[in-house]
Amino acid sequence: MFCTIKIGKRFWLWVGAILLALLAIFWLPGTGAVFPVLSSSVDQEKVVYLTFDDGPSVNTIEILNVLKEEKVPATFFVTGAETERGLGLYQRMLDEGHAIGLHSYSHRYREIYASADAYWNDLMRLADHIEEHTGYRPDIFRFPGGSHTTTADAAVLEEVKKRATNSGLCWFDWNALGKDDHSTPTSAQQIFENIVSSAGDKERIVTLMHDDGVRTTAADAVRLIIDHYKSLGYRFEKLTSETEPVRFS
Ligand SMILES: [Zn+2]
Repeated sequence: MFCTIKIGKRFWLWVGAILLALLAIFWLPGTGAVFPVLSSSVDQEKVVYLTFDDGPSVNTIEILNVLKEEKVPATFFVTGAETERGLGLYQRMLDEGHAIGLHSYSHRYREIYASADAYWNDLMRLADHIEEHTGYRPDIFRFPGGSHTTTADAAVLEEVKKRATNSGLCWFDWNALGKDDHSTPTSAQQIFENIVSSAGDKERIVTLMHDDGVRTTAADAVRLIIDHYKSLGYRFEKLTSETEPVRFS
């Protein structure tokens, strides 16, 4: 009897241990809350969102080639492409698993920021244009100059944000800057260093780089950035309307 009771206790101890082990294997790595030691190597929180504004351009193909080689998704906040080549690049971005977000059809600051209507008309023109040529209608966007741009009156920006929210359009700024928007190309190494120093030790990084005719070093910079953050255990994701936004305000 005594022995039986002892065996019974051991039995339940074993059952408990096995259940805990199963819990640890199948559930806890995703939560990180109860057994931080088990989940620390998973790095669920460390993520980089690579984003490129102003494309498509003559440099887009090279950027896409690097992303394909590295198997990394990215987000392109695009402008209004009018050539067959540009329209084909919208399609290639989508076909290769990247996100297309709206930036501006004309990208002419003075015109689009003249009023909320002007901004909205330009944005919808771009959405219609992309949908017409790819069948996909983007539901994310980025303000040219960012959501705090001083080119526009604060009231215009507020009105656009209100319309966006009512229309289910989600806007994103950035928290790591390539500083590549000069009249001549910035070296790949410099873009990489700018991104890393402005990202600091953030766990969610939204980079800003540009994809236009001048950015001949963009693809090489992307390779450096990907290598660096992969080695630090970051994963790469594209932005969607479900992604928690990074915004200035
Ligand atoms: Zn832009």
